[in-house]
Amino acid sequence: GYHRVLEDNRKLYNQVQDLKGSIRVYCRVRPFFPGQSNHLSSVENIEDGTITVNVPSKNGKGRRSFNFNKVFGPSATQAEVFLDMQPLIRSVLDGFNVCIFAYGQTGSGKTHTMTGPKEITEKSQGVNYRALSDLFLIADQRRDTFHYDISVQMIEIYNEQVRDLLVTDGTNKRYPFTSYLVLLLVFSSQKGLSVPDASLVPVSSTIDVIELMNLGQRNRAVGATALNDRSSRSHSCLTVHVQGRDLASGAILRGCMHLVDLAGSERVDKSEATGDRLKEAQHINKSLSALGDVIASLAQKNSHVPYRNSKLTQLLQDSLGGQAKTLMFVHISPECDAIGETISTLKFAERVATVELGAARVNKDSADVKELKEQIASLKAALARKE
Ligand code: ADP
Ligand code: MG
Repeated sequence: GYHRVLEDNRKLYNQVQDLKGSIRVYCRVRPFFPGQSNHLSSVENIEDGTITVNVPSKNGKGRRSFNFNKVFGPSATQAEVFLDMQPLIRSVLDGFNVCIFAYGQTGSGKTHTMTGPKEITEKSQGVNYRALSDLFLIADQRRDTFHYDISVQMIEIYNEQVRDLLVTDGTNKRYPFTSYLVLLLVFSSQKGLSVPDASLVPVSSTIDVIELMNLGQRNRAVGATALNDRSSRSHSCLTVHVQGRDLASGAILRGCMHLVDLAGSERVDKSEATGDRLKEAQHINKSLSALGDVIASLAQKNSHVPYRNSKLTQLLQDSLGGQAKTLMFVHISPECDAIGETISTLKFAERVATVELGAARVNKDSADVKELKEQIASLKAALARKE
């Protein structure tokens, strides 16, 4: 009777949550560095989805708690962090768009989560590697019913310019810093927003992916100096395009996954920055504050959302407000002296968690639509030849 109704209600509620959903937010706390152990941690407690931090206040000590879908403490392993992301990966192969992005101040562990530490072992591989391995694994399990084509792009947004990270100079060495291209973002009803000029590289195994990611990392490091660590000032985005053909019906599914390692979220003191540093500070602030504005306006359900204010928000437009499944990893450093950034990061994340997405939608063409699209394309080509 009563319990049954409750149970049914809960099921319905969960279904609706799954369909509509908010942006899921996972928080991860970096461990102290070796030899740093007698530092006091700003993190007071982690329990279920709640993190409590100590906030210095006028009358001594204050505390503040924040709730997220999950909170990972300093001892969480890469495997644990990835553990319940498999449904998300599976849905890319079902034709959904998925976006996973890492936010936090420089040094808080964004690259560690997305890619891994400097020397990557199988155990320390980050989300990017694991997500792609899973894609191949699940695609293979479905080989009797689906044929999948998987390809990747890797771009960087630096000072509001979009660059291709998968370009080689032909000899497979890093290509010269000066030859970076400025790429355009283009919208098409088929692919959504994409970067048509960035190399789109077909991949068929985890080894292909590791090679490409190494190339991307090398290209990303070009131009970095001790004083100017580009990687902390640029956003990098690995995009995986998946196309699946249903072997029985011929229907085509199209899924896309963005894996984004954002620039450090710390506020750069503009009064002290000059020259290139000032330019960088202004551009990073532009992209990240544009992200903040987009989140705020989505959270308030405003009719106008200012996606166009930065390249980053244009790129993520489909994932933030649209029919995508979106997960944000927010990272915090445990040190007491980082508490200012920690609080502003947690407050930002709290706001992100309130954003409600539209119902996630499958990108699917039935065999008929596919045929019509091909006809249109060939008619267009015939027209173009006549002109
Ligand atoms: P970010 O990309 O946010 O600037 P990094 O990912 O480079 O930060 O992390 C800074 C340092 O801390 C790196 O040496 C990284 O390997 C280490 N680190 C970060 N998170 C973890 C973690 N969860 N476990 C172990 N080491 C970590
Ligand atoms: Mg980094």
